[in-house]
Parts: sequence; structure tokens; C-alpha cells
Amino acid sequence: AHYLKRIESFDKQLNSYITVTAEQALAQADAADARLAQGQGGALTGIPLAQKDIFCTTGVRTSCASKMLDSFIAPYDATIVSKLHDEAGMVMLGKCNMDEFAMGSSTETSWYGPTANPWDVTRVPGGSSGGSVAAVAAGLAPAATASDTGGSIRQPAALTNLTGIKPTYGRVSRYGMIAFASSLDQAGVVARSAEDAAYVLQAMSGFDPRDSTSIERPVDDLLAGLNGSIKGLKIGLPTEYFAKGMSAGVQQRVAEAIEVFKKLGAEVKEISLPNSPLSVPTYYVVAPAEASSNLARFDGVRYGHRAQDVKNLEELYKRSRGEGFGAEVQRRIMIGTYVLSHGYYDAYYLQAQKLRKLIYEDFKRAFAEVDLVLGPTATDVAFKLGEKSDDPVAMYLNDIYTIAANLAGIPAMSLSCGFVDGLPVGLQLMGNYFSEARLLNAAHQYQ
Ligand code: GLN
Repeated sequence: AHYLKRIESFDKQLNSYITVTAEQALAQADAADARLAQGQGGALTGIPLAQKDIFCTTGVRTSCASKMLDSFIAPYDATIVSKLHDEAGMVMLGKCNMDEFAMGSSTETSWYGPTANPWDVTRVPGGSSGGSVAAVAAGLAPAATASDTGGSIRQPAALTNLTGIKPTYGRVSRYGMIAFASSLDQAGVVARSAEDAAYVLQAMSGFDPRDSTSIERPVDDLLAGLNGSIKGLKIGLPTEYFAKGMSAGVQQRVAEAIEVFKKLGAEVKEISLPNSPLSVPTYYVVAPAEASSNLARFDGVRYGHRAQDVKNLEELYKRSRGEGFGAEVQRRIMIGTYVLSHGYYDAYYLQAQKLRKLIYEDFKRAFAEVDLVLGPTATDVAFKLGEKSDDPVAMYLNDIYTIAANLAGIPAMSLSCGFVDGLPVGLQLMGNYFSEARLLNAAHQYQ
């Protein structure tokens, strides 16, 4: 009731929720109380949570912030939804705003309008998980789920003073998460601290036979080691991440954070990820290619928006997709179709796959030397609403530091390292495969 009341009071200004499930939330809260009264349930039972509107929820609209899915009600729950709400007993407050089909870095491509940053409502909250972070940062939810294909958990967390973690690819099930670029997409969580994030991630993680890329490996205890010392932890600073591009303010906050890690006993050394400058161009071939294939299913026939008064099947496809998808989604589909087409496949898609391998090998070499890699999450603090919305390339460059982790499939997180002129700055930590516990431990010690 406390959170529902805050949503009622403040969300008109922020637009962080697409759908608020007030009645269902109160019923779930009662069920959680009953469970706890019987001595059942766990640490998360009864704790409210907001879901990014990319995760399918039975009986509640799952729009992916697209007109295409404005009337779509999934007949099943995403695996993470049943794990968090049915198994762990968390209470769903609603579904959060995002960039349409998770394509964007500012939550301005949503069909439901942009979300504002609670730290300055004239600025963006980042994206694509902008609704999730705005809700948590404004106290309209204690934590929220999010997804990260190229930075959509970490960059918004950085811009709103939150902690967000994208786990290893395959650690959290993608079943029921609407696909953008399947080989890069990972679900995760945004919260106010590494400790909160650890609780939620623990409950989300695990093998799922319904996701063929899910990894069959026991889930580590993410909470047991949180308070352990990080003395002797080897942290690498990639030359390429500190070369240029970062604003002076971000550089200063990150430098101060490095000093804190040194005081905590970490050993810091410079490393190189020589292929990281290739991440953005590689991503903008691979991600649109996969998106063009994944979004082919929205044809106006099976589900989603259907154009009216059409003459034939071809017109049905064209008009349904033309009316249902926004400009950025259409741009990605066109880029993806182009790079996969005969005559261009070798020049673009195959080439990008080779670069992806080189980026992965950079990390393999780095993690032979260090335990974690540290750098900025974003080049600057939150930008103004509308500032970059007409310039796709400027928007794409927001993810310059975050994309490599998705291409390699490694876990990565963002945590706050202070403010510049009242606006939050994010610090990024990246780890080797399945090092979520180590990442969260380092972040918790820092916090
Ligand atoms: N901003 C990137 C993009 O627009 C990443 C989005 C994401 O991680 N979902 O594709």
C-alpha cells in the first residue's frame, strides 16, 4: 500500500510504470502474509518488486513499450516472473516503461512516452530499462527487474544512483523475456544496493530447461560472501576505457573510487582490452541482425497490432508492421535485414562475428591476470530529454563501455560512485564467467 500510494502521487511526473497492478499486488501481499504466518516463505516473501514490461506476465499486458503489443496479454509467465512471485513470494507492483523492444539508451522510444529521471525531471533516466530505474530511484519500488542487451541495466543504473547487475549469459532464464538480440540478451536486477541486488538475483538465477541457452550449473550463494574482505583482489583498469570520451567529472569520481578500492586492500593495475574500440560497430551489426529475425514474428496475423481494411496478405504485413513499430525499431529491422542479405552477409555479419571473437579473447587474456575489470559505466551524467533523440549515432555511443560485456557474455554491474553537479555517476565492474558473487562482494565492500 505504501508503494502504491507513492506511485499514485509521483508517477504522473515520472511515467516509470506502463501498467500498475494495484489490486493484484494487494492480493499477493495478503497471500505473502498468510505464507509468513505459517512460518513459510523466505527473505523476499512480501517484498514488492516492479517488472520491466519485457517479461511476460499471465493476465497482465506485456507491451515491450510498443504499439505492436499494446493489447497483448501473455498466456504464460516468464520463468523469472514465476521464480520471483510464485516461488520467492515477491509482490508485483506493475510493469515498467522502457525503450520500445529495449532498443535505446534513454527510454524515449517508448510508445507510452518518455520516463523522466527522478534526480532531474528534465533529463533522461537512461535506457532501455529507464522505467525500472526511475521507479526504484524515486522510491516507487524497492527493486525492479531489467534486461541488458548492450547496457540497458548498467547505463540506467549509473544515471540514477542505483546498483544494477547483468549476470553471465545463460545464468538467468530468457524464457518469457521478449527477444531483442538473443545471443546478447540477459535479465538482471536494479536495486538500491549490491546487497538488495544479490537477494533478487539469487532468486532469479538457475537452469531452465525451457531456455536452450540456459546453463546447467548450480547457482552460487550470492549472499554468503558479501561481507568478505577484498584484500588482495586484483582489479584491472583497461587503458582503452580511460583514454578519451569520459567527461572530466566522471573521470574524477571514478579515480576516487579506485582509491577506495585500494584502501580496501585491492591491487590495481593497468591492463589492455585492445579490441574494445570495435565493440559499438560490432554490436550494431550483430544486434540488429538478430532483432530483424526475432521481430519477424510480429506480422499482424498471430498476435499484436493488426492493420484494418487491408486488401491482401502483403498489405496486412506491411501496414501492421508500419503502424505497430516505431522509428527506431524500424531502423534496426532495416539495418539487420541489410547486413544479413545476400552479398552483404560476408562483409558485415560474418566480419562482426569475427570481431566478437576478438573481443571475447581480450577478456580471456585479462582474466588470466586480474579478478575484476573496472571502468566508467557511461561517458557522462544523464543528458536532457530530447537532446540526442534525433541523432541515432550519438545515442548508440552511450553504450561504448557496456557493450563488450554482452558480446563476451560475461557478468557486469554498475554502482554509484558519487555525483557531478547533483547528478549520479556510475562505476562499472566486469568479471569472468559466473563471478557474480565476487562482483557483488566487491560492490558491497565499496558501498
Ligand atoms: N542501448 C543499446 C541499444 O539501443 C542497448 C539496449 C539494451 O541493452 N537493451 O541497443
